[in-house]
Order: sequence, then structure tokens, then C-alpha cells
Amino acid sequence: MINWQQLEHEYYMPTFKRIPITLVSGQGNRVWDENGREYLDFTAGWAVNSLGHCHPSVVEAITQQARTLIHISNSYYTIPQIELAKLLIQNSSLEKVFFCNSGTEAAEGAVKLARRYGHLYLNGAYEVITAIGSFHGRTLAMVSASGQPKFQKPYTPLLTGFVNIDYNNVVVLEKAINAKTCAVMLEPIQGEGGVNLPDAGYLKAVAEICQQKNVLLILDEIQTGIGRTGRLFAYEHNNIEPDIMTLAKGLASGIPIGAVLATNKASVFTVGEHGSTFGGNPLACAAGYATLKFIIDNNIVRNTNLRGQQLSRGLKTLKQKYKFITDVRGLGLLQAMEFSDNIAQSVMMACLDNGLLVNELKKNALRFMPPLIITKNEVNEALEILDKALTVI
Ligand SMILES: *Cc1c(COP(=O)(O)O)cnc(C)c1O
Repeated sequence: MINWQQLEHEYYMPTFKRIPITLVSGQGNRVWDENGREYLDFTAGWAVNSLGHCHPSVVEAITQQARTLIHISNSYYTIPQIELAKLLIQNSSLEKVFFCNSGTEAAEGAVKLARRYGHLYLNGAYEVITAIGSFHGRTLAMVSASGQPKFQKPYTPLLTGFVNIDYNNVVVLEKAINAKTCAVMLEPIQGEGGVNLPDAGYLKAVAEICQQKNVLLILDEIQTGIGRTGRLFAYEHNNIEPDIMTLAKGLASGIPIGAVLATNKASVFTVGEHGSTFGGNPLACAAGYATLKFIIDNNIVRNTNLRGQQLSRGLKTLKQKYKFITDVRGLGLLQAMEFSDNIAQSVMMACLDNGLLVNELKKNALRFMPPLIITKNEVNEALEILDKALTVI
């Protein structure tokens, strides 16, 4: 038998802390490794596989599209791109969209758009205020934007034009905005940074401050968007409307895609000012359309809410049972469990041994982000496996 993991060590740059299983197939909310072992997937490819693995609607859409037209450049109009754009705009408060290939690229595009707006309407203001603990991606600009030293230190000097301030603090934000500020960029819930939920009212206050001070509000919904938190977009929980919004992860159930959405006011790119070779290509957009259409037509956010509440209740019950669980938090199907010690990896590995994939969010915290179509029985099954894993610890 081929030793794939050894080959990986030989040929692939060691950027990822890999879990020692080699996955070869997936169906519904489960995946299988090369030895035929089955796992219930509560990671969903880092909140990507909204409709689980190889969902028939997505498979059908990309198969059809692959037979028809996979790629052609953005020099031409293509139908899947226009269909997905229309569906996104009709179902959000934003008015225009631009497609790219990843979350990082979407966030980078949002910042470029805000800088264009600053050049045109804010006397050349170019600074973007972001939050400590945020995550906006891995390009040099987005590493500079993300307020996490562990991503920044290896690549100094950072790009200028970003100010990292405390999350969930309106006073600090208000003070940070000055004549150089063109935008504030925030995640409605910090995902990568720890599933950190701001206080109720924080985002509403931020939106009001941005409006008063005439700077753009960019919401990075790359992780929270497309039904993950129990609304199609997390901003809906807060009764606000961003000027710019980024999407990626869950938008196409696993086919790489990113999107920058903007209101007409903030949609200031003109011909040639931004672009992409692959962005918005027919294959990716067909996958995005199939995913979003299925989520909307089948009211999948209802399932996110019900299963999210069930998962949250179950995690809170475990918190009462095990004293070393210090916190359970989240919204919809984006949940985290924090421990008093650095045992997340051990718990994750014990779950793995029992056929459950969970994400090690930090040394002392796990993240749960199953597909949005997870069933009641599967949530119970995951909670039972987690309970068993916690007993072993
Ligand atoms: C994952 C993520 C990104 C980066 O997306 P990539 O597709 O990995 O480039 C940016 N912002 C947020 C909020 C994310 O969760």
C-alpha cells in the first residue's frame, strides 16, 4: 500500500498541522479514509461544505456545467456568473457583486474597494480599522489587516494602512476613526480567532458610528455567511446593513469561490480597476448557484437554528458534567468549547478514534461547524462521541 502521508512529507511544504488520516471520499455528513474507516464530519472543511459532501444538487450542477463550459475569461458575459450574482443580490441588502477565488481575495478586494472610495469621496483616506483577534486571510495585506501577531510576525514589515483595535469596544473604535480612515472591517463573530461573539448591540453601534463619521462598514462574513449562524447572513441578527460584505467558505459547498458585495454607493470600481482570471468562472458559479438556491428553497437556515440550538444545549450539558470545560459559546452551527487546560488536541484525537472530526480551534478550545444539513441523530451521535472522548481525558 502507498504511504501517502510519507509522500506528503517528502513533497509538500510543511505549512499545515495535519491530522494523521488520509481522506478519500465523502457523502452527506460523513467521510471515509483510505482504510475505509468512517467519520462524522463536524468540521465541514472549515465551514465550507454547507451541503455536506458530494451533495446531489451540487454534483449535478458542476457535472452539467463541466460538460457545457468550464472556463472562459471575464472578457465575456457568462450565464452562471450572472445567475449567482442575481441570487446573492436578491437575497441580501447589497446591490453589486464581484467574484474571486477565496476568502483572502474577497477581503483584499473589499479593502481595495474601500481605498478607492477613500480616494474618490474621503479626501484620500485609506486606513482600514480592524480588530485584534480577527482573521481576514493570508496575503501580505490581509495578514497586516488581521490582528493576530502569530500570522504577522513571520512576515514583517507589515503593510501600512491598517489599524488593529480591540474587538467589542465601541469607545475604542470611535476614538480610532480619524481623517485617514476609509473603512472599519469586522467579522460579525470572530471565527478563526476563537468564535468570539460581541455583546448584543455592538455591531449596531459600530454601524451607527460608521454612518455618523462617514466611513464604510465592511463585514467579513466569509465564515458567518451563507446560513452558518442561523440567518442567511449574520448581519441580519443585528438589524444593520453593511456597505461592503465578503463571502467565500460556504458559498459553493467546496468549489473555490469568493465574493465582494457592496451597496451601489460603495460599488466604485470602474473598468480595469480590479479583476481576476478565474474569479466568477462558470464552474465555480454553477456550484455557488446550486448551493445557495438549495439553501434558500429548502429553508436550510431553519435547520441551522434547530440543530445549532440542539448542539449548544448538548455542549452546555457536557460543560456541567466536566469541570474542566470553562466555556461553551457560538451561534447556529458555529460553536466552540473551551477548556481550562491545553487538552484540545487530546480531545480531538479521542473524537477521531471514535469516528468524529472536530476542529482544534486553539490549544484549549474546539470548534464545531458541521454541514448545515446535519440531522438531529447526527448531532446526538457527535455529542455522545464527544462525551466519551471527554471521559477518557
Ligand atoms: C477563512 C477566512 C478568511 C480567509 O479565507 P481563505 O479562503 O482561506 O482565503 C477570511 N476571513 C474570514 C472571516 C475567514 O473565516
